[in-house]
Amino acid sequence: MHVYPAIKNYEPVKSIKRNGILLILSAKNVMKLILVSAAKRYAKFARLFIFTKYLLTVSPLMKKLFTLITLFILAQNVTAQKKVLRQIADSINAEGEMLYRSEWASGHSTQIFASSFGRKKLLSGGYFSYETKKEMTTIFFSKNEGPVVLATVKFDHGLDSSKYSIDTTTRKFTENEKEFYTIRSKAAQAVLNDTLFKFYEHTSLNLVPIIKNGTKKVYVITAQTAPDEILLGNDYLINFDKDNGIIRKTKLHNNLIPLGTGGKEAIKASSHQHLGETSPFITATDICAFKLWKAKTTWVISFVVSVGYVSAWHFRDEFLEILTQDEWQKIMKNK
Ligand SMILES: [Zn+2]
Repeated sequence: MHVYPAIKNYEPVKSIKRNGILLILSAKNVMKLILVSAAKRYAKFARLFIFTKYLLTVSPLMKKLFTLITLFILAQNVTAQKKVLRQIADSINAEGEMLYRSEWASGHSTQIFASSFGRKKLLSGGYFSYETKKEMTTIFFSKNEGPVVLATVKFDHGLDSSKYSIDTTTRKFTENEKEFYTIRSKAAQAVLNDTLFKFYEHTSLNLVPIIKNGTKKVYVITAQTAPDEILLGNDYLINFDKDNGIIRKTKLHNNLIPLGTGGKEAIKASSHQHLGETSPFITATDICAFKLWKAKTTWVISFVVSVGYVSAWHFRDEFLEILTQDEWQKIMKNK
């Protein structure tokens, strides 16, 4: 089994480097964190058979690490663990926000460009959005080789869809835009040629390049279609090195997860599971979908449940909380 280092994508490592114990757990990958939590729980409740079953899905390397990690668990204290979970939650939420802003701008810009300059829009081979200190920008580029920019749409940071500017002067890419275009194109090639990427009927895949603090990545996410559901899953993360070479392709969910938004009766909560290779925490793509399609639902909260954790995303204040299964079960018992 291949273990995808999901935690690295969210880069919480830097912020928790000072925590001696947890450095080892966080710097490697999420699977270790699951092991920690699972080990802690199952040792406590002697539910070893489930744990053994779970361990079978973990690579031999992880099994070797298990003994070592158990030692760390014994030294572990709850406050430290909570602090780390808080940092993980904050970094996932921030990543989700960044992804959302890009998708929001791309979506609104597409509507603006198509409705006012439909003919020119037909020449477009794609688009991407990026945020600078000044504003949020979406550009549409031509289909030919050596493409040029066909239109530039700008919003201010407040993301008010009625306040925008559109410039349809054809121009060259800026240096910054060239980088975005390059990683986006490489991601498009990978999506076509690599069997890791799945296509589902009646959906399309959006490529969302993000460059921040020198880190380059492209999220590949399934676009929403039906009005009465929110599609999660069938999403991927492609990481690039500074020279725009692909260093890693990660599948973020195992499949496509359509969550019905309900009929006449208002549904207050939704949930889905993260199993196997999927991150034990909510993903930035989950948060992006929740934020983009908030208006479609009556949800107050959405849960993501994994072996070790429960992530709860609150719609009202967009707060993310990550609890260990231990904490979660205590809360449920007291209810
Ligand atoms: Zn998810």
